[in-house]
Amino acid sequence: MILAVMEHDRGKIVDASLELLTLLRSLAQPMNATVNAALMGKDAETIAPLLMEHGVTKVYLVQNERFVDYAPEAWAKGLVHLIGAVRPKAVAAAGTDRGNELMARVGANLGLAMAANCTELRPGERLGVTRLRWGGSLLEEAELIGEPKLFTVAPHVVAWEASPAREFSIKEFHPSLEEKDFRVRVVKRIESEKAGVSLPDAKVVVGGGRGVGSAEGFQRLEELARLLGGAVGGSRAATNNNWRPHSDQIGQTGVQIAPDLYIACGISGAIQHMVGCKGTKRILAINKDPEAPIFSRADYGVIGDLHEIVPALIDEIKKAKAR
Ligand SMILES: Cc1cc2nc3c(=O)[nH]c(=O)nc-3n(C[C@H](O)[C@H](O)[C@H](O)COP(=O)(O)OP(=O)(O)OC[C@H]3O[C@@H](n4cnc5c(N)ncnc54)[C@H](O)[C@@H]3O)c2cc1C
Repeated sequence: MILAVMEHDRGKIVDASLELLTLLRSLAQPMNATVNAALMGKDAETIAPLLMEHGVTKVYLVQNERFVDYAPEAWAKGLVHLIGAVRPKAVAAAGTDRGNELMARVGANLGLAMAANCTELRPGERLGVTRLRWGGSLLEEAELIGEPKLFTVAPHVVAWEASPAREFSIKEFHPSLEEKDFRVRVVKRIESEKAGVSLPDAKVVVGGGRGVGSAEGFQRLEELARLLGGAVGGSRAATNNNWRPHSDQIGQTGVQIAPDLYIACGISGAIQHMVGCKGTKRILAINKDPEAPIFSRADYGVIGDLHEIVPALIDEIKKAKAR
């Protein structure tokens, strides 16, 4: 059996977890294994039935009265107890911040290696993996020995597809935990004020860098994104200047995006930024410097001042929509 650790926010499942299930189904077939899932946190039970549609044959609801919000030590310990009880061949989570943290703790707890951000899995006695290193600028091939194999799968490696399981059951599991396991826990939850499509899932992303010049300068980018049904992100220069919140930072130390179109405005194209856009299908770069490195990565380029080009683009889109 392969155990998938599902990530959700109060009953709303994270897409990267569904992608994980798609990949695990293809791993389970040659291993003659089933895919089971572990769910923790508030409202976990509401999404358990949905997992059957994604090929999961059994869901373990790992429960504790204090498992409301994320508590990395306690959740990892809960998983370790579950692993001891059900003995999976492999345990995997989505390669999100939370998935990577949780699985690293599980690995440390079990004294086993954990391969983070895998992009390919090759079943065998030693599980072969290809994984992203150095923020995605290098691909490494590695083999996992020992059991269970522990790994996370980088987001957007595959598109998720539903594939219903023939049988399905839900089982509660109550790990024994102590007060000290909850040393690190969420003490306050602040909901994002942002409405609309999220950056990692957006089909169109409008990104702004130092060239945007101010927080106010992003209003035009917001307008462009709204017209295209997309989301706005930024480079580290934009987040360091407090023009955008850190959650909007695209790149190695920020969010990974995979839109159909990325419109990068006033962004030079540093490697640390570009590794966050690896899954992007098309890049349109707007930059006043014809030598900017981003032009060597872009599919389309406009050389000029973004403060003139973005409003012109908005006008043209409005005209086209009015036709
Ligand atoms: C360990 C590490 C991790 C990092 N992680 C990240 C990360 O996750 N994400 C990230 O983005 N960066 C990251 N960085 C920083 C990265 O190296 C760059 O410094 C950063 O991406 C630069 O941001 P920028 O392109 O907005 O700014 P700049 O490099 O200063 O580029 C600004 C661009 O705007 C253009 N421009 C200026 N004015 C205009 C205008 N009016 N119209 C059109 N174009 C204009 C300029 O020609 C220039 O090309 C990281 C760095 C390190 C060392």
